[in-house]
Amino acid sequence: MTETYSGENIFAKIIRGEIPAHRVFEDADHLVMMDIFPQSRGHSLVIPKAPSRNLLDAAPDTLASSIRVVQSVANAAKHALEADGIRIMQFNEAAAGQTVFHLHFHVIPIYTGTQVGAHAQLRADDAELATMADAIRKAMI
Ligand code: AMP
Repeated sequence: MTETYSGENIFAKIIRGEIPAHRVFEDADHLVMMDIFPQSRGHSLVIPKAPSRNLLDAAPDTLASSIRVVQSVANAAKHALEADGIRIMQFNEAAAGQTVFHLHFHVIPIYTGTQVGAHAQLRADDAELATMADAIRKAMI
């Protein structure tokens, strides 16, 4: 069965400005925001604005430009948050763990000795998310 994209998903609503988000970076083609259920301190999401469910139906140019943003956010997060490593995660379809059906890449800072939390479980404090967004944004400049 071929799944189709719906513009009613929550990330599409955030891109359109209908729902608030802790924005880190935005240009004409991408939005970077904090994951509100972070799996580690500083977990962010790189979201291309072009509509696609996931990597499987995305245009190659969208994937190419997105990975550049992923690299930039990963370096900024590692530096700003003094992370020991960065995990990039990306799910395609519900069977693979995808819960929001608009393409996105998880950028998850890893801290030695600290376990990565469960996926989409614990809502983070908004003040903490704002602080993280600020720190990553400043390191991207
Ligand atoms: P996935 O399972 O790969 O589709 O990941 C979706 C991610 O979006 C999860 O990590 C959720 O914690 C996160 N998420 C869901 N709703 C929001 C929201 N309103 N703002 C920011 N992140 C969200």
